[in-house]
Amino acid sequence: MNVELIAMTRYLAEDGGPEALLERAGRVCYRSESRGNPGRFLRARIREGHESLIEHASATFEISGISRACSHQLVRHRLASYSQESQRYVKMSDPEWVVPADIETNPEANALWETFADEVKRTYQALIDLGIRKEDARFALPNATATRIIVTMNFRELLHIFRLRISRHAQWEIRDVSIRMLELIYPHAPHVFGDVRDDLIAQYPDFFE
Ligand SMILES: Cc1cc2nc3c(=O)[nH]c(=O)nc-3n(C[C@H](O)[C@H](O)[C@H](O)COP(=O)(O)OP(=O)(O)OC[C@H]3O[C@@H](n4cnc5c(N)ncnc54)[C@H](O)[C@@H]3O)c2cc1C
Repeated sequence: MNVELIAMTRYLAEDGGPEALLERAGRVCYRSESRGNPGRFLRARIREGHESLIEHASATFEISGISRACSHQLVRHRLASYSQESQRYVKMSDPEWVVPADIETNPEANALWETFADEVKRTYQALIDLGIRKEDARFALPNATATRIIVTMNFRELLHIFRLRISRHAQWEIRDVSIRMLELIYPHAPHVFGDVRDDLIAQYPDFFE
């Protein structure tokens, strides 16, 4: 799996980062001049629950090498924009797979998986050779098929995803994606994501090792 932060909101007025824009939005609400620590101001608003402020900034990630099972979970988050590699237009004759560690490290399970994966490849190619269109041949592909997706989300939706998907209840792969996204965005907006990151590290220190 690879997760890359490829774009983020900039605050043009002062050639600043996303938090400068968010602080400005907050100051408009309260007609308060900039005073004191801007980061502390922003963090205080978020702690009060004034989270609509942070919708003014967004980030774009490119995520590759995740399974279709995982991307399906990701795209359930509706307040976002997605562009995903198409199995209608891209030939999947030699697909990459995401194999869960539980299968990979169990010799018997892994042998079963290998047999199945070879059969999937053979079936896909045989369907293509029979003149079946890629959009139909892809029906032979499993959830394990790796995919690539670009996602853009505002900071409020990102916070929401981190709270929901970095948890013992979340599935390991989307949790891994979410942790990587958090660790990439946090240095750029520590006052927005710091509290949630501290809480999650306190709750689940092993996830962040
Ligand atoms: C542990 C776990 C298990 C899950 N298991 C299943 C499962 O078995 N089956 C399944 O189908 N899904 C499952 N899901 C997916 C889950 O139901 C959500 O679809 C998914 O997490 C997207 O999150 P969200 O609905 O909060 O919203 P997002 O789309 O991320 O939206 C963010 C927030 O905006 C608001 N919002 C967005 N759209 C609406 C709307 N139409 N009406 C009102 N408010 C809205 C809500 O406050 C929402 O929380 C699971 C998720 C988790 C984390």
